[in-house]
Amino acid sequence: MTTSSSMAFIHNVCSASFTHAFRTRTLVATTIISSQKHNNLSTAATTPTPTPTLTLKPSSSSSSSSSRIQNNDSKVLLGLSEADLQQVALDFGQQGYRGKQLHHLIYQRKIRQVEDFSQLPQAFRKGLQEAGWRVGRSPIHSSVTAADGTIKLLIKLEDNRLIETVGIPVVDEKGPMRLTACVSSQVGCPLRCSFCATGKGGFSRNLQPHEIVEQVLAVEEIFKHRVTNVVFMGMGEPMMNLKSVLEAHRCLNKDIQIGQRMITISTVGVPNTIKRLASHKLQSTLAVSRSE
Ligand code: SF4
Repeated sequence: MTTSSSMAFIHNVCSASFTHAFRTRTLVATTIISSQKHNNLSTAATTPTPTPTLTLKPSSSSSSSSSRIQNNDSKVLLGLSEADLQQVALDFGQQGYRGKQLHHLIYQRKIRQVEDFSQLPQAFRKGLQEAGWRVGRSPIHSSVTAADGTIKLLIKLEDNRLIETVGIPVVDEKGPMRLTACVSSQVGCPLRCSFCATGKGGFSRNLQPHEIVEQVLAVEEIFKHRVTNVVFMGMGEPMMNLKSVLEAHRCLNKDIQIGQRMITISTVGVPNTIKRLASHKLQSTLAVSRSE
């Protein structure tokens, strides 16, 4: 279970280089998000809480494969489950195992373009392209490396908007390197906390699930190392884009194989969202912070 102290550590390392929650937010509660009643958010956001237990539902809470594909108007492969990808393959007259290959190419090989799926038959690749399917990866616009090895990335989205992602490596006596990805959930932020540069810049839009997931893949590419932890502490307030955050959470856990307990959702406290989040019974950590 993630504890307050370990969360404080994550919060601190993230804050060393990232513009979101770190400046004057104070972490007041961390908790594994479960079914425990959490009736009064304002209490949670202002009172240090001795790690109560909330629980979030495993990924079965996410929409079904077919509805995810149906709703995916933009035909983005990134973010789809293996079952979804199998369905895509079947829809193109391919055998089901091609879906498994697609899954491997997208999440393990991290290939960015359908045309580079050289393991797949050319007719299948061509069919995907002609039908408008794309992987959904965005280019890295720029990066800055700090003396401690932390790297901040600016990722340029399809609509030319930029989002920040930070990769934070930690090497210590506890074992192999841990790599935390600090991800954004929105372009800008509607909450406009007075101390925050992101808030001052205003709000543009919510991120799509694949735009959250791709931040983790970008960190893995830059570090040539698996991401071990994810914290939603980048640009934006994740609880105001909960649908995308939950879909990205499913993908990070099931497709990229990051343990649910290694994922932390950080919020300043948005009314009526914690109960909604708790109803999903994820085994992840919710960090509630407030500004000073
Ligand atoms: S909630 Fe929004 S405005 Fe407030 S610190 Fe986070 S990103 Fe900045």
